[in-house]
Amino acid sequence: MSSPPHTVLPWIVRRTRLPLLSLRCVDCRSESATTGEGRFRVNANRKLLDVWLLVRCVSCDRTSKLTVHERTPVSSFDPAELDGYHANDPELVASRLDPLLARRNRFTLDWKGAWRLDTPSAWLDEAWPVQVEVVFENPVPLRPERLIAQGLGLSRNEVLRRIKCDVPLRRPTSSGFTFTVMAGD
Ligand SMILES: [Zn+2]
Repeated sequence: MSSPPHTVLPWIVRRTRLPLLSLRCVDCRSESATTGEGRFRVNANRKLLDVWLLVRCVSCDRTSKLTVHERTPVSSFDPAELDGYHANDPELVASRLDPLLARRNRFTLDWKGAWRLDTPSAWLDEAWPVQVEVVFENPVPLRPERLIAQGLGLSRNEVLRRIKCDVPLRRPTSSGFTFTVMAGD
C-alpha cells in the first residue's frame, strides 16, 4: 500500500552565534579561537587593500589575523562591502566565516552549540509516510542523518531504516533538503 506522503511544516536550522575556529594558537597550543563580536582590519597601500578578520585564542587571548583580501585593488570592492569592513558589520563577519576563508587560513569551523533546529510540535495522529522540508536560514554544515535523528528523537539506526532522503544522509550539507519518514515497525 502506498499513499502519498503527508507534508508537515518545515524544520528550520538557525545559527545562534558565530562558530568557533579550530585553529592552533602559536603561543599556548590551544586549538580554539573566537572572532568575538567580529572585527575587521583594513590596511590601504596605495590603491591596494588588505582586509583581515581578527580572531583571538580562547585560552590566552592572543590575537591573530585571518586574511580576507590580500593586496586587492580598491576599485574591485563593492562600496557597500567596503563600508561593512570598516563598520565591522556583523552580517559580513558571519558571511566571511565560510569554508573558503577556512581553507585559505588553515582552520576549520566548529559549529558545536552554535545552531539550533526549530521543529513544529511533533505530529501525533498523522498517517505515514510524512514528508518534511528542512530549510537553512543560515548555512550551518550538518549531516542530515544527525539532524533528522535529533529532530525526530530517533536513533541513527532508525533514521537509516525509516528515512528516504533526496540527499546523502551522511554528507554534511548546508542547503535545504526534503526527507520522508516511513512508518515504524
Ligand atoms: Zn593561546
